[in-house]
Amino acid sequence: MTVTATISKHTGSCLCGAVRYEVRGELGALVYCHCQRCRKASGSAFNAVTPISGANFTITQGDAALNTYRSDAGVCRTFCSHCGSPIMAYRESTPEALRLRVGSLDTPLATHVSAHIFVGSKAEWDDIHDTAPQYAERP
Ligand SMILES: [Zn+2]
Ligand SMILES: [Zn+2]
Repeated sequence: MTVTATISKHTGSCLCGAVRYEVRGELGALVYCHCQRCRKASGSAFNAVTPISGANFTITQGDAALNTYRSDAGVCRTFCSHCGSPIMAYRESTPEALRLRVGSLDTPLATHVSAHIFVGSKAEWDDIHDTAPQYAERP
């Protein structure tokens, strides 16, 4: 019998490699957010994010390269100041509840999308072709 080990540590990095991070423990559900803010921030149809605890997240390299854009709504989006890659985001009011941008992961992710949120404001050219539940806003 083959037992597949569960990956309990994930690592990731930005496009240029200046910023590297480590996430301990299991990652949460994979969510695609289709809101306009996430489209702007990602330059794509949606942001693929998973909730993680700040206590499990460590920047292992390039802390000084990490920059943060704080929106008027108090959402902080961190990115590499050299290459612009988004790394994670959090609300100023809940700085320990991070939303990791899973596109920056270097380790495989065992899960697939579990929900689409803010589908009510998705781009008109954004077609969803999987069977994961869709929510007009945040469920
Ligand atoms: Zn970079
Ligand atoms: Zn969003």
